[in-house]
Amino acid sequence: MRTTLIVGNWKMNKTASEAVRFVRELAGVLAKDPAVEIVLAPPFTALESVHGVLGSVSHLALGAQNLHWESQGAFTGEISGPMLRDVGCTYVIVGHSERRTLFGEQDGDIHKKIRSALANGLRPILCVGESLDERELNRTDAVVTGQVAAGLAELTAEQLKPVTIAYEPVWAIGTGRAATTEQAVAVHRAIRASIASGWSMEAANRMRILYGGSVTPQNAPSLLRESEIDGALVGGACLKTESFATIVLAAKNRPVH
Ligand code: PEP
Repeated sequence: MRTTLIVGNWKMNKTASEAVRFVRELAGVLAKDPAVEIVLAPPFTALESVHGVLGSVSHLALGAQNLHWESQGAFTGEISGPMLRDVGCTYVIVGHSERRTLFGEQDGDIHKKIRSALANGLRPILCVGESLDERELNRTDAVVTGQVAAGLAELTAEQLKPVTIAYEPVWAIGTGRAATTEQAVAVHRAIRASIASGWSMEAANRMRILYGGSVTPQNAPSLLRESEIDGALVGGACLKTESFATIVLAAKNRPVH
């Protein structure tokens, strides 16, 4: 039984004071439900103030959008795993396609970040996804499972336990053009099969695989109806209380699989 997970990736939006106002409103609207885990991933500058609003026992967990693989040192502008833990994070997004395409993150960097997250007690959300060209060349499964294998290389099945994978087709992120439910399910199946062959069937059955890419209140019910889709990584639609709450409601109303 995999608990549904809804993650709001705020990207570079909201100042710390805007974040406080927003999270106060959100926390009032999103009731606790053991069937759905919710993670808020504000910018680094708002982590501390959001944690202050949530408190340490909130039903809303705190996540970061990135981390450096070293714990400390001469890495100007970077943030480490111990820093994220200290400020109350329990999750961290790793290898988002904007990090890969705009900031040149490679699979090897992402692998080191996954290891650092795990070493620091953070639950990594590994993002994978194909470009439009790759999809049109029928390379989707190969690209995505290759990113999974590289990101999780040499981890044991035990080490995989805190890991979540987010399938986010690059062409769907921020474009308003989400994958169809059928497209998402097909790739989720390929990812799960690659975990089964690389690790074990048990590890595959346990792995949460989220869909991300233009998730909206309109398409969330169809996506989340599928047993293969264990939740959503939400960008644009997580910035407004109503749209994020409606997506969370779709998760709460999904059939029990
Ligand atoms: C994302 O940032 O991971 C994302 C999926 O963005 P959007 O929902 O805006 O496409």
